[in-house]
Amino acid sequence: MQATALEGDGMGCHAGGEQLLSAAKAAGKSDILKQYAKDYPQDAKAGPHDQPQSMCPAFGALRVGLRMRRTATILSGSACCVYGLTFTSHFYGARRSVGYVPFNSETLVTGKLFEDIREAVHLQADPATLDAIVVINLCVPTASGVPLQLLPKEINGVRVIGIDVPGFGVPTHAEAKDVLAGAMLRYARHEIQSGPVQAPRGGVVDMPTVTLLGEMFPADPVGIAHLLAPMGLAAGPVVPTREWRELYAALDCVAVAAIHPFYTASVREFEAAGRPVVGSAPVGLDGTVSWLQAIGEAAGVAQDKIDLAKAQAAAAIKAVLSANAITGRITLSGYEGSELLVGRLLVECGADLKYVGTACPATRWNADDADWLRSKGVQVQFRASLEQDMAAVDEFRPDLAIGTTPVVQKAKQMSIPALYFTNLISARPLMGVAGAGSLVQVVQSAIGNRARFEAMTAFFENVGSGDTAGVWEDVPVAYPEFRIETRRQLDRAIKKRKAEEMG
Ligand code: SF4
Repeated sequence: MQATALEGDGMGCHAGGEQLLSAAKAAGKSDILKQYAKDYPQDAKAGPHDQPQSMCPAFGALRVGLRMRRTATILSGSACCVYGLTFTSHFYGARRSVGYVPFNSETLVTGKLFEDIREAVHLQADPATLDAIVVINLCVPTASGVPLQLLPKEINGVRVIGIDVPGFGVPTHAEAKDVLAGAMLRYARHEIQSGPVQAPRGGVVDMPTVTLLGEMFPADPVGIAHLLAPMGLAAGPVVPTREWRELYAALDCVAVAAIHPFYTASVREFEAAGRPVVGSAPVGLDGTVSWLQAIGEAAGVAQDKIDLAKAQAAAAIKAVLSANAITGRITLSGYEGSELLVGRLLVECGADLKYVGTACPATRWNADDADWLRSKGVQVQFRASLEQDMAAVDEFRPDLAIGTTPVVQKAKQMSIPALYFTNLISARPLMGVAGAGSLVQVVQSAIGNRARFEAMTAFFENVGSGDTAGVWEDVPVAYPEFRIETRRQLDRAIKKRKAEEMG
């Protein structure tokens, strides 16, 4: 194995992306990193994601693997990263063991780590219990060039999928889902090309299907199926799939709906299989009508059937929208990739939406959503940084801030009601008729909480913040000189380390 460019475990998100990136390139990972740079573009001006600003991106790929039946996942990375990732996956109810191949400076440098990974894969590959084993290289093994592509493609019928998911190459956990989903689709596509494959568990659907790209609330595929039915189409599997054989059914579709807009590698596989891919999603009235038109055209459905589907959906959605309305100014930010869709729905529900920030990039599958939102006067920020999301709250002083944990925290400190995007907004139906009805209640009742926040602020104000927060027996005394001294010592240590590195 090639000599590693990194020795040891002392690097991570905190070491800075540039250093890891150049180490990875030197260690033979240039091609994959170039592909990632194309698939998951980072805007140099606005881009804060040269290192993770939220959770470790690898969590996305880990979660996709952990949710699949008969699939084992093995992590290769620093112990601290693996601790964080397994903690988070169990917090989100993984109910599955995560495999780990530990390393030290010696095993990393000598190539023994790769041999250890190969041995672990062989030990796990039991076809009675597994369809696939996923091995994920985290930052340090990627930067050190651990060559997962040299693992056997299959052992006793168990497929082996090795992927690099470094924080310095894959900007968000959303896009890391695509890294694994794309690798699996690629594998499955080659299997289909080489011979017959397993049928879906529930049998082959006898109508042409539309594959849904992007994780969504379980009721949404059902709602989408209702929308598609008048066109003689059925909803196909959701990708990332929950089982290996669903990958074949996903590829066996008439069209793909890129509900989430960041699945670039997966789209590449669908396009290689000759499947047309349609962006946006059936959200709100405008969104549903134009999505049905685009899907119908992509699937070769006659215009009269498309018109029928549009008319039925429009009548039901109009009725729901006219019965409920949101009144209030809102800012919205998140890192799931569905932010623009939620934004569209909020606007159609009557909200005065001022800002949508998403950690995901602009792609051809969210271009129409961005145009639609901008035409309604909404500021859309792709690759939004936490600072930009916070600045939007400051600037627009909304009645409700929907966002990530730190945005919600900031809003609450300003007595502004706030909702977590991930837990409270993306965990409910958004599509079609159900979507139109579901948002209003949660948003409107959150907006109605403002008086409670103001009462809390009034009660707690002046009890201390920053260094003086907490319970004190005496009036707290600030010691700014301690802070200055610590800063001086840190600067000195950094200078010393740099001098050692150069020497
Ligand atoms: S693997 Fe994740 S947690 Fe570990 S250094 Fe990379 S980005 Fe950070």
